[in-house]
Amino acid sequence: TNFNDMGIKEDVLRGVYEYGFEKPSAIQQRAVMPILQGCDVIAQAQSGTGKTSMIALSVCQIVDTSSREVQALILSPTRELASQTEKTIQAIGLHANIQAHACIGGKSVGEDIRKLENGVHVVSGTPGRVCDMIKRRSLRTRAIKLLILDESDEMLSRGFKDQIYDVYRYLPPDLQVCLVSATLPHEILEMTSKFMTEPVKILV
Ligand code: AMP
Repeated sequence: TNFNDMGIKEDVLRGVYEYGFEKPSAIQQRAVMPILQGCDVIAQAQSGTGKTSMIALSVCQIVDTSSREVQALILSPTRELASQTEKTIQAIGLHANIQAHACIGGKSVGEDIRKLENGVHVVSGTPGRVCDMIKRRSLRTRAIKLLILDESDEMLSRGFKDQIYDVYRYLPPDLQVCLVSATLPHEILEMTSKFMTEPVKILV
């Protein structure tokens, strides 16, 4: 498969090529299509496989830029990963005018509030700060249609389980969920059975 054969919008495709990619990696070949078809997806993949760009590409394709509401939410275990994901979405989504913002601890809450008020399509964040912004009603959840849980095993081992469940409770019922994890221990499978419907499973 090639990026051209994936049904990706012209302006997003331009972002992908300008980012320097020629061909999709294995996880991009196997996970992007089911996500774009609306399936819940469990991707068992480590970092280094191209999972961040897989997430960015899927999100950029799904977002409707005629609305200024948050439509996709990505949760990550660390500030660094959440920022990296934000930057990858900004790069791939440059020509599609996709606005992404990282809601992460250690940065000013006022800045988050201002950015969210201006309107962003995608939020990439750590569970604690995202939960906080939702409870402050700065992060509106009603238009969120896709939740991505990145490095899920790492989020659980850092003690984010309750915050992830907390965030999930604020999201609309017809939500699409994609879970990325290097390992699939019992607690992850428990989450997938609570959050997901007939998920497609991918192992890379
Ligand atoms: P990740 O697993 O998302 O952390 O990506 C690991 C590295 O692979 C990053 O430096 C990406 O820029 C790079 N990468 C991701 N997808 C591709 C691709 N399709 N072609 C070439 N490099 C890629």
